Amino acid sequence: MGSITLKMQHPALYSEAGDVVRLFYGDTPLTLYREGDMEPEADVMIVQRARREGEGYLHEAVLTGPDRAPLTAAYCQQEMGEGTLEQKRYFKYGVKIVLYHLLTQATGKAMPWGSLTGIRPTKLAYELLAQGRSVQQAAQYLKDTFDVSREKADLLFQILKAQQGIVCHESFRQLDVYVGIPFCPSRCTYCSFAACDIRKNRKWVEPYLAALHHEIKVCGQMARQAGWQVRAVYLGGGTPTAISAQQLCALLEAVNLAFPGAAEVTVEAGRPDSIDRDKLRALRDAGVSRVSINPQTMNGETLMRMGRTHTPEQIVQAFALAREAGFEAINMDLIAGLPGESAQDMARTLRQIAALAPDNLTVHTLAMKRASKLKEEKGRYSLPSGEEVLKMLEAARAAAAEWGMEPYYLYRQKYMTGNFENIGYSLPGKACIYNIDIMEETHSILALGAGGISKWVYPAENRLERTPNVKNIEQYIARVDEMIARKEPRLCGTLLDRPETVIV
Ligand code: SF4
Repeated sequence: MGSITLKMQHPALYSEAGDVVRLFYGDTPLTLYREGDMEPEADVMIVQRARREGEGYLHEAVLTGPDRAPLTAAYCQQEMGEGTLEQKRYFKYGVKIVLYHLLTQATGKAMPWGSLTGIRPTKLAYELLAQGRSVQQAAQYLKDTFDVSREKADLLFQILKAQQGIVCHESFRQLDVYVGIPFCPSRCTYCSFAACDIRKNRKWVEPYLAALHHEIKVCGQMARQAGWQVRAVYLGGGTPTAISAQQLCALLEAVNLAFPGAAEVTVEAGRPDSIDRDKLRALRDAGVSRVSINPQTMNGETLMRMGRTHTPEQIVQAFALAREAGFEAINMDLIAGLPGESAQDMARTLRQIAALAPDNLTVHTLAMKRASKLKEEKGRYSLPSGEEVLKMLEAARAAAAEWGMEPYYLYRQKYMTGNFENIGYSLPGKACIYNIDIMEETHSILALGAGGISKWVYPAENRLERTPNVKNIEQYIARVDEMIARKEPRLCGTLLDRPETVIV
């Protein structure tokens, strides 16, 4: 198909409606048509409208095209939630549901997550339970309302069960701290993070760390004075272990001083080519409890194609060094759907990972992120089909179960192959608190460093506020005091000064 036009009575919801259309039509160019715009010449036109009916809305959608009979769908929405924000959210659901019904008819396809896009499905599941539904009723509601498959609904409630005792909705004055190191040994082609190649940017490392130390110190003072308790600390990026052992030591010392009392400290040691014995020892001595060593795949050719400057053998060595240093919680990340890979490659990777016996496994589905080289040069790569990726994800799920792991968090991203998901698996008792907190959005996150986005949780209103730091390293160094000032009102309590009602 050449192009699609969306004609919307509610153009403010164009982005959400576009997400649903893309589930079915992928990268097909999509434009918004507003009243008064030039009549479009798209192959397909989708019209969205809604009108009040009783307490709710009647949503309608129509699809027309040159060589087809018009298709229509209607969805009568009675449940609208309470309060303006809730009602807006429910209305948005209604628009997406009717478009989903229309496009299911048009294509004959169904999606595993139904019309759920841009939403954390576990959050919705918690909400349904909090409304008084049983697990069975909530699963049925997800199926009936959003067309979520039975398998995905079961997965959600399995995750909620695994989170019991860790997830905490009573988050008043508790926060997690994220510290970003935006340097990596090289840049992976699929990367969309604010991470740069340390080989070309060494001159920025010291000034960056000086600015970061300053932000850590000042924000730590503010947080302690305002009575925040720190639940978990996470050093990510980038690859924190790309800096030297000495620099890591100094950084962790500063973090421990500024934010004492964390129950968990995690460091992304993602790239094996950034790890050595000294660094791992420095991490252990500084109280780091968890590390992540990420193969993504154990296929050396794919690693090379993806711009990762390490071999599968280095993964095995780095893992052994981490165990030798005493780490008892080691995560490994894999990506399903990497260019040129098949289900057989995933099976081979899983066999090699099994021999290492990690404590956590995180399985991502490849997402074509806008800022990535992979997206820019998409034509150069051959991507596995959605069916092949599904086989990979199923193989990973079976392997994790065989190793005694259970899924404990899940999230979805835009532009993901096959509309699947990312799942974190864990051995019993080895789940990462920070991962649960950030996915369930139960705790405020204080994010320090370039590209960090602090999130302030208002559970009573079921909403978040974000305070981003600039992504650019030079800008961050020059404007670190401004980054601190942006966070000050919330960190010092002037905007978060009341105990909040608990949702669940
Ligand atoms: S290691 Fe991670 S952060 Fe660094 S370039 Fe690769 S994907 Fe990006």
